[in-house]
Amino acid sequence: KFITFEGIDGAGKSSHIDFVASLLRRAGRTVVHTREPGGTPLGEKLRELVLHEKMHLETEALLMFASRREHIAQVIGPALERGDWVISDRFTDATFAYQGGGRHLDLKKLEALEQWVHPKLQPDLTLLFDVPLEVARARLDATRTLDRFEQEKADFFAATRNEYLRRADQFPNRFRVIDSTRSMEQVQQQLQEIVANL
Ligand code: C5P
Repeated sequence: KFITFEGIDGAGKSSHIDFVASLLRRAGRTVVHTREPGGTPLGEKLRELVLHEKMHLETEALLMFASRREHIAQVIGPALERGDWVISDRFTDATFAYQGGGRHLDLKKLEALEQWVHPKLQPDLTLLFDVPLEVARARLDATRTLDRFEQEKADFFAATRNEYLRRADQFPNRFRVIDSTRSMEQVQQQLQEIVANL
């Protein structure tokens, strides 16, 4: 199975990925834990570029999908064929949310790239960690220096979050929206129930 983790920066997604990975491993599954942009040596180089260089919005979207193409070919595809479980910190929903929602790139162009790069592959489950903007900002400011995306204005994050929530409505079969303002324990309990149902 293929599980993706999504949410705006500061939604607390990363701290829950290790928890889900360890749940699955305890249940005897072989887990491949990966991330986007990145996940392969070339993908990690593209990640560095895209996070730190200024570039045209369409270049940014194309590099996200270039990283993804490599990631599917080298990591995700082979793992799923072996019967392993793949958990990815972000996937195509992030490109719709950030480049589409946040930066207003035409969603039709992103749909065309998705059709090109992975016409058939979709996550079996997408966990969307959702918090109001103020909560996300407060968490980020407290923990680390911000990359060029994280320094963006609040309206960028509002539009990104809205696009995530819109996709969750559009694809209710694979999305689960997790209220990430709750305590770590409460969120973990919900994750445990969701994973048990898989
Ligand atoms: O998931 P993580 O926080 O490591 O992502 C790194 C950065 O890349 C984030 O600041 C996020 O805003 C940005 N990003 C993006 N577009 C994507 C995926 C990630 O702007 N499609």
